[in-house]
Amino acid sequence: MSDEIYSQNSEVRVESLFIEQDDSPVLPGMGEGEIIVVRSARRKRNISAYRQGGQIVVSIPARLSKADERAVVPEMVAKIRAQEAARTFDESALSIRIDGLLSALAPEISERPASVTWRTMQERWGSCTSVDGTIRLTNRLQRAPEYVLDFVLFHEAIHLRYGDHGEEFQAFLARFPEGIRAQAYLDGYEAAEDRLLAPIIRR
Ligand SMILES: [Zn+2]
Repeated sequence: MSDEIYSQNSEVRVESLFIEQDDSPVLPGMGEGEIIVVRSARRKRNISAYRQGGQIVVSIPARLSKADERAVVPEMVAKIRAQEAARTFDESALSIRIDGLLSALAPEISERPASVTWRTMQERWGSCTSVDGTIRLTNRLQRAPEYVLDFVLFHEAIHLRYGDHGEEFQAFLARFPEGIRAQAYLDGYEAAEDRLLAPIIRR
């Protein structure tokens, strides 16, 4: 069973070496390197797309023409995006969640974010600029369980008042009821990503 999983992974690994960077279509709202086109010699006609970490991988037959690729890739990416949007909190909902988290767990913190936005970020789960009150969340968390999303939102919200991860910050963060479980999820996610995306990250 696990052999099968590993061999699937290694297929992705090998083909990832042939990422076509210059020809990747750039779509509105897409960060650089977010779309990976994989040409598979084994694939005869079917085209598939899936989310792998922060990237959307579109797998196409090796012999598909450039013109067809340009037509089909945006279409597949749009399908993935539509699927994800259907079950993703929109940005105003994220602000409301932060307000709820601070009110319930940290009433001493009266600051509220000016904006909360989804971003393509490979290296971080979220970030906060306290000067202008903006919070950004990686779109890798768009399908994470709610307790994980809330953990990261709460973390960034505490940064509205505390810039570092010092004692006061930690004391607030420790009030989050499922912090240990959420951190374990994030650590596991990162480990899986390192395993699957190593060839892409290290190019
Ligand atoms: Zn932090």
